[in-house]
Amino acid sequence: MTAEIDKRSGFCFGVQNAVEVAEEALLKGEKVYSLGPIVHNDKEVERLSDLGLVTINQEQFKKLSNCKVLIRAHGEPPETYLIAEKNNITIIEATCPIVKKLQSRIRKAWLEAKETAGQIVIFGKKDHAEVAGLLGHTENEGILITGPDDLDQIDTSRPISLFSQTTMHLHDYQNFADLLRAEIRKKGVNDPDKLLTVNNTICGQIANREPHLSSFAGKHDVVVFVSGRESSNGKMLYSICKSINPDTYFVSSPDEIDKSWFDGKRLAGICGATSTPKWLIEQIYNIIAAI
Ligand code: SF4
Repeated sequence: MTAEIDKRSGFCFGVQNAVEVAEEALLKGEKVYSLGPIVHNDKEVERLSDLGLVTINQEQFKKLSNCKVLIRAHGEPPETYLIAEKNNITIIEATCPIVKKLQSRIRKAWLEAKETAGQIVIFGKKDHAEVAGLLGHTENEGILITGPDDLDQIDTSRPISLFSQTTMHLHDYQNFADLLRAEIRKKGVNDPDKLLTVNNTICGQIANREPHLSSFAGKHDVVVFVSGRESSNGKMLYSICKSINPDTYFVSSPDEIDKSWFDGKRLAGICGATSTPKWLIEQIYNIIAAI
């Protein structure tokens, strides 16, 4: 089978940085805990676990002391740092710089909103670690909106500062902002942007991959999308490929490949999410190229 890998697929720099920070700490032979899976990819988590990285959850974190804990690319709320200080935990900082910047912007907007009775609205996924971190920077006063159905949680007669989780779909975010504008107009405000500030906070690494992957999916007879099943970015980018090329298949490990997908096909494309390791994409490529 003729196959090719999408050269832009694989870890974004935030995840790449977190993995490198973890590897560096592990090479020193120290015990390192990761607060939550370092990346939404079981295969990569397994690889790092073999090197000694121990994944823990929030409850386990609260019981630790005198050790080293890595904060992954998604970031954490301020409370996590306070617990670490109290329990003499050394933080190994691997929060993505883009997420870090977003956290500060949200914090600043939240402090300013106090002067104007404004609201901080975060468009994101419920229970996503990045969202928990972002809300933490508003002392959990921010309003999480997962889609149009949550619109009634917002008071459209008061100022609104709207932010998005970094990995949301750009069109969904824009559509939601338009919906919000329409609701504000219904309150008799002619220019909704006087009340609504839409902050462009979707990560460029995500936004640029959308059009790129649409084009990649359209150029191949069959597409194999490689990602962990927990990755929100993976689900989103897969749905984009699938909408362009119905012969797109989602796999999270090489044993999920079905040879019948390639019957009568000429060119296969292999791509993945920002949390998919390159080595896994290459493993999948080698299997498909040998069919
Ligand atoms: S997707 Fe963007 S914001 Fe998220 S970790 Fe990667 S580089 Fe950072």
